[in-house]
Amino acid sequence: MSNVHKLLQHLDKVKRTGPCTWSARCSAHDDKGPSLTITEKDDGRVLVHCFAGCDVNDVLGAVGLTFADLYPPRVVDHRVGPDRRPFPAADVLRAVGFEALVVAAAAVAMLAGEPFSEMDRERLILAVSRIQAALTAAGVTHHG
Ligand SMILES: [Zn+2]
Repeated sequence: MSNVHKLLQHLDKVKRTGPCTWSARCSAHDDKGPSLTITEKDDGRVLVHCFAGCDVNDVLGAVGLTFADLYPPRVVDHRVGPDRRPFPAADVLRAVGFEALVVAAAAVAMLAGEPFSEMDRERLILAVSRIQAALTAAGVTHHG
C-alpha cells in the first residue's frame, strides 16, 4: 500500500480532488467540512495541510501515524553500497539528506513528548546506519 493510502484509509470524507490530491475531514480538530488537503509527491512523499491551521503532527497523531509513515520506504537501498563504482555523489547526498530528515522528525516528536515506539527507534537506528554506510561508500571514514 502506498503511503498516501495508508493515511487516507484512516480519514473521513475522503474525496479525490486531482490526480495526486485529496481532501478529507481533519482528524485533529472538530472539522465540519473537509479542511484537510493531502498531496502525493512524485517521489512518494505525502504532504498534509489543514486549512484550520492544525499541526501535521497532530493530524497524523490523531490517526495513529507519524511522519515516518509518510516517507517512501527504502529510497536509498540498492544505491548506497561499497560495491558500486563510480559512486553517484548526488545520490549519496540525497540519501543522507533524507535520512537527516528522518532523524529530525524523530527529534521533533521526542521534544513534543510523543511516545517513541520500538519501530520509531529502529527507524532512527536505521537512518544513522544508512548515513554511516553512505560515508563509508563515499570513502569518508573515521580513520581518514
Ligand atoms: Zn485541522
